[in-house]
Amino acid sequence: MVKHRIVEELVAIVGREWVLSETDELIVYDCDGMTYLEKALPEVVVLPDTTDQVSAVVKLCDREGLAVVPRGAGTGLSGGALPLKGGVMIGLNRMNRILEIDLPNQRAVVEPGLVNIALTQAVRDRGYFFAPDPASQIASSIGGNVAENAGGPHCLKYGATTMHILGLELVLSSGEIVHVGGRTLDVPGYDLTGLFVGSEGTFGICTKVIVRLVRQPEAVQTLLASFRGIEEACEVVSAIIAAGIIPSALELMDKHIIRALEEWLQIGYHGGAGAVLLIELDGPAAEIAAQARGIEQICRTRGVLDLRSAKDDQERALLWKGRKGAAAAVGRITHEYYLQDGVVPRTKLPYVLREIDAIGQRYDFLIANVFHAGDGNLHPLICFDSRRQGELQKAVAAGAEIMKLCLSVGGSITGEHGIGMEKIDFMPLMYSPDDLEAMRKVRTAFDPTQRCNPGKLLPTSKSCVETSVAYRPHRIEREGLAQRY
Ligand SMILES: Cc1cc2nc3c(=O)[nH]c(=O)nc-3n(C[C@H](O)[C@H](O)[C@H](O)COP(=O)(O)OP(=O)(O)OC[C@H]3O[C@@H](n4cnc5c(N)ncnc54)[C@H](O)[C@@H]3O)c2cc1C
Repeated sequence: MVKHRIVEELVAIVGREWVLSETDELIVYDCDGMTYLEKALPEVVVLPDTTDQVSAVVKLCDREGLAVVPRGAGTGLSGGALPLKGGVMIGLNRMNRILEIDLPNQRAVVEPGLVNIALTQAVRDRGYFFAPDPASQIASSIGGNVAENAGGPHCLKYGATTMHILGLELVLSSGEIVHVGGRTLDVPGYDLTGLFVGSEGTFGICTKVIVRLVRQPEAVQTLLASFRGIEEACEVVSAIIAAGIIPSALELMDKHIIRALEEWLQIGYHGGAGAVLLIELDGPAAEIAAQARGIEQICRTRGVLDLRSAKDDQERALLWKGRKGAAAAVGRITHEYYLQDGVVPRTKLPYVLREIDAIGQRYDFLIANVFHAGDGNLHPLICFDSRRQGELQKAVAAGAEIMKLCLSVGGSITGEHGIGMEKIDFMPLMYSPDDLEAMRKVRTAFDPTQRCNPGKLLPTSKSCVETSVAYRPHRIEREGLAQRY
C-alpha cells in the first residue's frame, strides 16, 4: 500500500505535477495494448525526467518494500506493464531525448521514452535508419522495444531489437545505476546487454540506450503477390527462402484481413485473392533486380494470381499502410479480438494454418491471420464479442490451443510480444522446471527481492502444465473480469 507520506516523498523527487495518485488520473494506466484479459489500477504513477530521479524513486521503493513497474508507451500486448502487485509505476515517457548521434560510427544514444519512429526520422535525411520496426513504431518506445526484444516486418533481414543494442544504462532494484555493454560491437565480460534485452522489466529499468544505426539501402522494391489460397502463399514463403533469397520483409495477410483493409483503404487487392504476400527487397539495385526475377519465377510456378510491384514511394507507402493498419482494420469485422503471437518452423505454416482454421470452427470463431511469414511468426486474431456470455473464456481457451499447436510442431509461445502476465502459465509447457529455475537465479542476480515488475515472465510455482493452462478461463470467470471490463 502506497501511503500518503510516500506520495509526498515522490513529489519531492520529481515534482507535484509528475506524480499521479487520483483514480481518474490512474485509470489510463490500468492496462496496456491487451485491453481485454486483465486490468490493474496502479496505486501511484511517477513520471521522472532524469536517471537520478528514477534512481531516487527506486531507492525509496526499496526502502519501503514496494513493487516497481516500468512503463513505456503501454502498447505491449501481453500485459507486461500491468501493476499486478501494486507499488509504484514509473512512466518513462518524459525521458524521450536523443542524446547523441554519431553517424561515422553508426550509433546513437537515446533515452528509453523516445518513440521508435522518431529515431529514424532524425537520421533519415542523412541516409540512416533504426532497423527494428514493430508495427507499433509510431507509438511504442525504444525502452519498451528493448524490454520486449521487439520484432517487426524488417527484422527478417535485419534481426530483432537485440541485434541493434550496443549498451544500456540501468537502474537496478536497489537504485544503483549501472552500465552494461558499450559503444563498440564487442565488449569483454558477460553479455549483460543481451541478457537485459527481452527481460520485460523484471531486471530493472533502462534509462539510456546505445543503439546501432543502419545505412539506408541503395534501392528498395516492394512487391504484392496475390494467391487464391493461404497454402499457396505459405509454400511461396518457404520456396523464396530455400532459393537463398532473404527479403527485408515477407508478410502474409489472409482473406479476412484483405476484406477489412480493402473496405477501409481501397488498396486495390486482387478480387480473387484468398491471401497476399507483401515482399520487400532492399540492397544494391542490381542485386534486388535479380532477386525480384527469382521471386517472380517462384510465384508464377505456384499459381500467383497477380504480382504487382510498387511503382513509386506513394504506392509503396500505401501497401505498407495496409500491412501496418491490418490489426486496426479488423475492428471493422469484429467487436473485439484476441491477438495471439506464436512461432512455428516456416515449412509447417500450411499445416498450422489449417489447424488454426479448424480450431476456429470448433470454437465457432472467425480467426484472421496477418503475420511475419518469413520468420514463421504467426499472429492469429481470434474475433469474439465479450458482450456474449462466456465468449472471452472461449477465446482464451482457443488461444491456448493455438499455443499448444505451435509447440507441437517445434515452435514457440511468443515471437515478439513477450510473456508478460498473459503467457506466464505457458512457460512450463516450453521449459522444464530446471530451465525455469536457472532463469529465476539469473533474475535474482539482477533483482534479489523480486520487486521489479512482479508477476511477469516467470511463473512463481512449478505448476502442473495442464492445470495451469486450463486455469486462466476459470480465473476470468471467478474474478468476474469479463463483466468488470
Ligand atoms: C498495433 C500494434 C502493433 C504491434 N506490432 C508489434 C510488432 O510488429 N512487433 C513487436 O515486437 N511488437 C508489436 N507490438 C507490441 C508492442 O508495441 C511492443 O511490445 C513494444 O515493444 C512495447 O513498447 P512500449 O513502449 O509500448 O512498452 P510498454 O507496453 O509500456 O511495456 C512493455 C514492457 O516493457 C517494460 N518496459 C517498458 N519500458 C521499460 C524500460 N525503460 N526499462 C525496463 N522495462 C521497460 C514494461 O514493464 C513491460 O513489461 C504491437 C502493438 C500494437 C498495439
